[in-house]
Amino acid sequence: MTTFSMQGIGVSRGIAISKVHIIERNQPETREYHIEENTLQQEIARFRIAVSLARQQLCSVREHIPIDTPGNISSFIDTHLLMLEDSALTKEPVNIIRERQCNAEWALKLQRDALVSIFEEMDDAYLRTRKDDVDHVVNRIQRILMDQGLKAHEVPDSHLDGYIILADDLSPADTVMMQHKKIAAFVIEHGGPTSHTAILARSLGIPSIVGLRRALRYIHEDDLLIVDAHEGVVLINPSEAIQTYYRQKQLEQIRYQAELINLKEAPAISRDGVEISLQANIELEKDFEIVEKVGAQGVGLYRTEHLYMNRGSPPAEEEHYLTYIEVMETLGNIPLTLRTMDLGADKTTDYESTPLSANPALGLRAIRLCLKEPSLFEPQLRAVLRASAKGPLRMMIPMLSNIQEVREIFFILEGIKEEFTAKGIPFNPDLKVGGMIEVPAAAICADRFAQHLDFLSIGTNDLIQYLMAIDRVNDEVNYLYDPLNPAVLRLIHMTIKAGKQYNTPVAICGEMAGDPRFVKLLLGLGLRELSVHPVILLEIKRIIRESRISDLESEALKILNAKDSIHANELLEALNR
Ligand code: PEP
Ligand code: MG
Repeated sequence: MTTFSMQGIGVSRGIAISKVHIIERNQPETREYHIEENTLQQEIARFRIAVSLARQQLCSVREHIPIDTPGNISSFIDTHLLMLEDSALTKEPVNIIRERQCNAEWALKLQRDALVSIFEEMDDAYLRTRKDDVDHVVNRIQRILMDQGLKAHEVPDSHLDGYIILADDLSPADTVMMQHKKIAAFVIEHGGPTSHTAILARSLGIPSIVGLRRALRYIHEDDLLIVDAHEGVVLINPSEAIQTYYRQKQLEQIRYQAELINLKEAPAISRDGVEISLQANIELEKDFEIVEKVGAQGVGLYRTEHLYMNRGSPPAEEEHYLTYIEVMETLGNIPLTLRTMDLGADKTTDYESTPLSANPALGLRAIRLCLKEPSLFEPQLRAVLRASAKGPLRMMIPMLSNIQEVREIFFILEGIKEEFTAKGIPFNPDLKVGGMIEVPAAAICADRFAQHLDFLSIGTNDLIQYLMAIDRVNDEVNYLYDPLNPAVLRLIHMTIKAGKQYNTPVAICGEMAGDPRFVKLLLGLGLRELSVHPVILLEIKRIIRESRISDLESEALKILNAKDSIHANELLEALNR
């Protein structure tokens, strides 16, 4: 067997050597089973009901499309509705059920494969893409047949143990659900390094590569893979010699990580005595253990969206409260910055039906959704206030874009505080409220936000997405994700200056802070509080301890004023040498 390699974007560290299990999220897994002659009619009825439910679902989606939605979205739904009338999808599977005496899912899968192969042979590029429509419609029926379908996380545990998972795409919800399975690595065809799925995969401490385009075409079930997440490389069917080389590399990495543990108790102080507040970003339970292991001084970003995901209804106040208390206790009461819910865009729930949108990342997300849906937001706010009586907790608001949003939040908070005071419910009246600077408008007006809020935290993942107009989950535009772009550096610098002007602390919690390449630059620009993923925290501490901040300032300004990205990269390399 010949070895070949593919290049993607590494989003975490580590090497995995194992067999691959493929999950095609777009095509639920199906298997064939025999249907007895006397129950064939029932099976056919089951299929017909599923088709009619699929029709109802699509009609309901069409009815809820806002009037100003671009025409192509509604015509896309009309096309799918038409396909649901077509005998190729309604009658042919019935014939297959009868002839083969098989279950409806299998008949539908066989018919889907036949249709897709016809589309794939077409010369016309446009017609070739219509196979995606077949898949969308078929998947809708399959999911109904399977009562939600076999989602990635529903694959039995034993099936995933030790496997490398290869998927066309994984939603954050799927990734969260896989956290308890012993997965060796994730390889995903789509997505960028700051997509929420990538961040979650990093949280799980699993070697992960995204943007490995067309991987499903070349990699097959049970192929042996080597995943080098640091380099973003996947080797397919490697020879014995290559496997030995990577096993050696794997051991070296494990040794290096073991050495870093020695820095656990060491302070994050630069050589010239500047103390840096080095905090952790957390989300999943797994992160809590790592925070403890690496001795983080605090949590600069606690993402709370997962509380809302993979369930039928949103959490009630008491559940929020008990979770926060437990998190504080588990973390040993270190300062905790809790970010209020940031659902929307790629983070979706089963119960919150956000209207169909051509640009979900620009839609009803985070604080916008919270202010529109008090039933999602207020239980969280009340719980945060109550939890604030129990430990060093502060609250942070995502996706702010204007001061009016801040006023509205304070108005709601004041109402709850008055109620709590009247009822004698304890809370910290001085709860600090901060905001994320992740929308360019907020960065440009950071001085305003610095006056109204207790602290700011720069979220570079979204800041870069919105500033560069690149969807962070779209691997096709990922080449534009460039933290060194002067526009990005200027907004970071402006935010730091605004914070200084009003004595409002400014932190950074986007993935840029946890990238060893940018640490010295960020310190040189004036940041003194970094919040990074706990798996990388000790490495960032090592860089801080090797830095002399007084030397970094002038170099950082040179990078800020570099004439282009190439020049900025050269200066950055010199700074890191
Ligand atoms: C960010 O946008 O940089 C950030 C930290 O928030 P999230 O990645 O959760 O959107
Ligand atoms: Mg963000």
